[in-house]
Amino acid sequence: MIYSNKEELLNCAMFCYNKLRLTSEVIITEKSLDVNGYCYEDGSIEINEELTLNDRLLTLCHEFVHCAQYERGATACEKEAYKLEGELYNEYKSTIHNVVDELPHA
Ligand SMILES: [Zn+2]
Repeated sequence: MIYSNKEELLNCAMFCYNKLRLTSEVIITEKSLDVNGYCYEDGSIEINEELTLNDRLLTLCHEFVHCAQYERGATACEKEAYKLEGELYNEYKSTIHNVVDELPHA
């Protein structure tokens, strides 16, 4: 289950949640932060609300990787998070792109 105070992050959050096969509750909050994002071991994610939407989505993907690491009992690994954030982000973007492509052209 995913909770967020920002609707625009939910689709991407669902995508990451399913892709990483998470089962625990994830709570996403956008707020003013001095870093891009943060993931707590209890599954809470914080995203810096001052970033552009694309940067917030990329950060969300990054923090979700940490959620997955915590869920399997591992400690936070930045190397894996930076590697997977781009894969998740690009894959998410391509699913949106496909939806847009299916719309009839004016
Ligand atoms: Zn990280």
